[in-house]
Amino acid sequence: EEQRPVAALDLAAAKTEIGPLRTQLKQWGREYYEQDQPTVEDYVYDRAYQRLVQIEARFPQLVTPDSPTQQVGGQGATQLAKVPHEVPMLSMGDVFSPAELADFNARQQAGLAVDSLAYNLELKIDGLSLSLVYEAGQLVQASTRGNGQIGEDVTANVKTIQDVPQTLPEPLSIEVRGECYMPKAAFLALNEKREAEGLPTFANPRNAAAGSLRQLDPTITKQRQLATFIYYVPDFATLGVTTQAQALARLQALGFAVNPHSRVVTTPAEIESYLTEYTAQRDDLPYGIDGIVEKVNDLATQVQLGNTVKVPRWEIAYKFPPEEAATVVREIEWTV
Ligand code: NAD
Repeated sequence: EEQRPVAALDLAAAKTEIGPLRTQLKQWGREYYEQDQPTVEDYVYDRAYQRLVQIEARFPQLVTPDSPTQQVGGQGATQLAKVPHEVPMLSMGDVFSPAELADFNARQQAGLAVDSLAYNLELKIDGLSLSLVYEAGQLVQASTRGNGQIGEDVTANVKTIQDVPQTLPEPLSIEVRGECYMPKAAFLALNEKREAEGLPTFANPRNAAAGSLRQLDPTITKQRQLATFIYYVPDFATLGVTTQAQALARLQALGFAVNPHSRVVTTPAEIESYLTEYTAQRDDLPYGIDGIVEKVNDLATQVQLGNTVKVPRWEIAYKFPPEEAATVVREIEWTV
């Protein structure tokens, strides 16, 4: 159906639209974050979410603390123990075209009064966020993002993931964060097996990873062949690094799985070519990605930029145009 452009809405029309729009987004959010069973494609959710962002930008008096634009993720499964996050685990802003990304960068650089900035570009792994806490070099706790303030305890489950070090080569007390994902091959095999057993299949690798990590029984998680990429350290001073690129190198040296495709860039042309390269390579990677993450490389500048209530101002996701459903179908046909 035709939607009126947000610019054409008056306050009354905006008020009428905003309630049902939030209710719809919250329902999709519960299905996605809590039940791992989305009923719509991500781009449908993203489009509705962007509409809410635009309406709230035009009528800031309609913003409420419980709006999906002000909250991270979902509440999580009630059966898993709750874990408070010392540093909140945030969501990420997004843009949907290279031109929007260029605008974002221009505004960011103007705000910092600089005319160029080094960025670390990374693949946006399509999994779920994971926090790992080490004490004196021993893995003591693993948790999901949950609502950003309180996550779910998945320590026993994460101890079954092969690429997560249980012990670090140095007796560090440190929290690291990254993405837990299910490789495409494991996802296809799992869905084939479930179909043969008459069980419901997972909509995509992301939901399969979330459903597999958030199990009460770690022996189930162990069978699911989950993997991780670690990319963030809230307290980077502990690592003695000053840039995101250095942080990744240190994390790798400590034995974490670090994605090999990141790149430091300084010019718009370099950013464009990274987007082009990985948009083309997307289907050939052994794991799903849903975009590119751009991070200000200098960690002191990250601190200076800070966060909103929901997202860091120093990173942004460029989301690929919708294609996921078609990709998965093609691969299933190809495998069979
Ligand atoms: P997000 O998943 O789009 O982005 C933030 C997350 O990206 C981070 O928390 C982190 O886990 C992850 N990430 C992956 N690679 C990263 C990297 N290299 N560096 C840093 N972070 C990286 O944001 P969100 O708030 O979790 O959720 C929004 C997303 O969920 C949208 O894509 C939306 O379409 C989808 N969603 C879909 C439905 C649905 O019904 N289909 C419902 C709700 C949300």
